[in-house]
Amino acid sequence: MHNLQHNLDKVLDRIHSACDQFQKPAPQLLAVSKKRSARELREAFSLGLRSFGENYLQEALEKQSELTDLNIEWHFIGPIQSNKTRAIAEHFDWVHSVDRLKIAQRLAEQCPEGKVIQICAQINVDQEATKSGLSFEELPEFTEQVLGLKNLRLRGLMAIPAPADNFNAQKASFLKMAEALRQLQLKFPQANLDTLSMGMSSDLEAAIAAGSTIVRVGTDIFGPR
Ligand SMILES: *Cc1c(COP(=O)(O)O)cnc(C)c1O
Repeated sequence: MHNLQHNLDKVLDRIHSACDQFQKPAPQLLAVSKKRSARELREAFSLGLRSFGENYLQEALEKQSELTDLNIEWHFIGPIQSNKTRAIAEHFDWVHSVDRLKIAQRLAEQCPEGKVIQICAQINVDQEATKSGLSFEELPEFTEQVLGLKNLRLRGLMAIPAPADNFNAQKASFLKMAEALRQLQLKFPQANLDTLSMGMSSDLEAAIAAGSTIVRVGTDIFGPR
């Protein structure tokens, strides 16, 4: 308990310092809880965390079933196989890792009646062969198609940049994301795109400097996996 509180305080301090330093509004803190037990999530909830990010569907569903008494906002942030979209649509409020139109179409079709799923387009910001995500070039067409789908609200962009060990290199990738969102906002003003899901334990300051609105932090809250 003490440890989690201590870790969370440190992360919140880092976020607030970065916001002060770079004159930015505070991003939402998404607690990335993959490989963490339901008990640990409950503890984190008791410390004030309300949004949790999960990467693995089966693992997430098990935890969700143990935490139905808590008012958690669930975010799916992992790779998506198309045979998993129904359960994701049913059990998550946000999906950050939509990386192709087919996935968006399936989430839209399989979304429960009356629900709206918040989604982000995942961008392969550093054009890594091993990483999924749309290219910047594909983004306008993807956006246009997704804006025509029912039950989805496209909020913005998400990325996991290539690892970089210095602030300026980290920030360079995040600035590309911010510029891409700005271009999309100009092209699709009616969409009210407002989200940059970027920044993790090792690069949240650089992400905030570039205008992150959601930082996704696992290790520095819960400890090493
Ligand atoms: C695991 C993960 C994170 C959190 O990473 P940490 O380095 O543990 O903070 C954030 N986003 C995604 C997509 C992840 O898979």
